[in-house]
Amino acid sequence: MAMVMDQLRKRDISDPLVLAAFSRIPREAFVEEAQLAHAYDDAPLPIGNGQTISQPYVVAMTAQALRLRGHERVLEVGTGSGYAAAILGAIVHTVETVERIEELAHTATTRLAALGCANVRVHCADGTLGWPAGAPYEAIAVAASAPRPPPTLLAQLAIGGRMVLPFGDDDRQRLVRITRRDATGYDEEDLGEVRFVPLVGAEGWPRERS
Ligand code: SAH
Repeated sequence: MAMVMDQLRKRDISDPLVLAAFSRIPREAFVEEAQLAHAYDDAPLPIGNGQTISQPYVVAMTAQALRLRGHERVLEVGTGSGYAAAILGAIVHTVETVERIEELAHTATTRLAALGCANVRVHCADGTLGWPAGAPYEAIAVAASAPRPPPTLLAQLAIGGRMVLPFGDDDRQRLVRITRRDATGYDEEDLGEVRFVPLVGAEGWPRERS
């Protein structure tokens, strides 16, 4: 609750659905044992395989920017620890979350099952290609940074749907909300500067950062 108050409410997170989700989902269930003392730090944490669990505020900002009401079918790209997927799952109807690293997908699946997050489904695949079986999505959250918005993800967005993703070059990325206006039109809004691990895949970067 201190995290919700100090890191979220005292900044600009006011969406009651987002705040309720953060109050319900224990972040300590998604970090490694060695990181337990840091589970509520105002920071990302290592989760193995060179990846991180995002800073709580960044997950909250993304969820709030998606303007969720509860009925949505959501796609998340970059499951990582599974924490953001659990948060989204506490708000919406269903979450399809895609992770490219098998070990992380496996651990996240186990954790989400242990917490009873039955409406979150983890898939091990290249998430730059989305998850076609569940498309179109009213909301898409991308948790890794692409050189540009992947065209396949834009195509899997429902009309009126929102996608929040970081993109840009290696060290300067913008978090952007893209809203699909109609079959061919998309609006783009800048939400601020961020730093994410790279989105590696067919419509992302060709390889990890060295
Ligand atoms: N939402 C996560 C944050 C994970 S960091 C959490 O709450 O913990 C981003 C994740 O994106 C990493 O686990 C990385 O392996 C994954 N990733 C990178 N490129 C990907 C791709 N093309 N498809 C799916 N996952 C990808």
